[in-house]
Amino acid sequence: MKEYLKRLPKDLQDLISLAGDLAYSNNMPVYLVGGFVRDLILGVKNLDLDIVVEGDGIKFAEVLSQKLNAGLIRHRRFRTATVILKRHLKVDIATARREYYPQPAHLPEVTSGVLKDDLMRRDFTINAMAISINRQDFGRFIDCFGGEEDLADKKIRVLHNLSFIDDPTRILRAIRFKQRYNFKFEPKTLKLLRQANRLKMLEMVQPQRLRDELILILKEERPLKQLIRIKELIGFDFINSGLSLSKNTLAFLKSIESQISWFKRKYPKRRQLDIWLIYFIGLIDQLNINNIKLICKKFVFRRGEEKRILAYKKLKPKFIKELNRDKIKPSKVFSLLESLSYEVIILIKAKFKNANLKKRIEDFFEVYNGMRLYISGADLHKLGLTPGPYYQKIFHRVLNAKLDGLVKTKKGELELIKKITTRLK
Ligand code: ATP
Repeated sequence: MKEYLKRLPKDLQDLISLAGDLAYSNNMPVYLVGGFVRDLILGVKNLDLDIVVEGDGIKFAEVLSQKLNAGLIRHRRFRTATVILKRHLKVDIATARREYYPQPAHLPEVTSGVLKDDLMRRDFTINAMAISINRQDFGRFIDCFGGEEDLADKKIRVLHNLSFIDDPTRILRAIRFKQRYNFKFEPKTLKLLRQANRLKMLEMVQPQRLRDELILILKEERPLKQLIRIKELIGFDFINSGLSLSKNTLAFLKSIESQISWFKRKYPKRRQLDIWLIYFIGLIDQLNINNIKLICKKFVFRRGEEKRILAYKKLKPKFIKELNRDKIKPSKVFSLLESLSYEVIILIKAKFKNANLKKRIEDFFEVYNGMRLYISGADLHKLGLTPGPYYQKIFHRVLNAKLDGLVKTKKGELELIKKITTRLK
């Protein structure tokens, strides 16, 4: 595998040889594993280095992060750690472990192990390959389950018959990798997946784990392709029993897809959207508010996420009514949309075909959202106004006038302020 490693960017190669040197001096064998090895062979860019340590993974991560002067997050319970390097580069370090599932669909019991044990606990053959980065056998390829052959044949294959029963989240992972790489299921794996689904194994999993896998699915490059396969293979009961991927929902999700590309194309420098959340809200839009609340409770979303999910459902009718009007002042459009997140605004734009509504949302992003006043607090002060909360009110009034085209220059803004304040006196 040396020739594969040589194709990596220089900074990754340096990082790998540093890890190998530290492994040697700390007497802890280390290996590249998992998705990193899979993508290395596939020639797919992957900046998440996955390392397994035969020894103490956390200690190794501490040594590595010190050497690199990089951030470190420890997950003591799982004996893993993450070294954060640059914005897009991180190293996941795990202690080689042996897993045992005392109960299906529950978290496994874990003991220390060697590399082979660690590979045996993995989900699919294509994720269970390793490369030694130790001095004595640098580049040695370890493939106990035929992962390389499955990669070449484009096959998703579990390592043993109980894989989906032990950990049903692998059902979702299998679909995710299959759709991402355009692979097929090895026939027995497909049979086992369907069996686990018939046994409703996903219902036995802790919902937060399902949520995390669902988020990963929606973060994939083509989430619709993922959802279509979920519909075909397992349906959406694991989210809510009333949920389906009807023609209407699919059309809405397609519209969401094009609105997201519109936003990304047009505003590459603005805040990054939580794209997965937009798709998720689109998917569950067919449900009533009570079911949506139930999902939020079950999946324990973060507060900001739940807020956006409920905001869309609750506020949608009001916004549509207002934004559809024949006449509406820009200041009104601004005050309506300003309180919403970008995610919710994009959902509203995706949901309705009405040209007025679309144009108003576009104007909001293009003009209103970035509109600034010429005047500042200092100008108000100069006019003899003592600073106080009513400064905000004045700014608000002037901004509304500016949005509606009633004032255009700094002079105009100042005149308006004088007018407002004389009236206040
Ligand atoms: P991605 O490219 O999406 O990051 P990945 O393969 O790196 O994919 P992770 O979720 O980061 O996926 O997991 C890292 C590795 O841990 C996987 O390659 C796999 O070997 C193993 N793994 C993750 N989840 C499971 C699971 N539920 N059961 C068994 N092994 C798992």
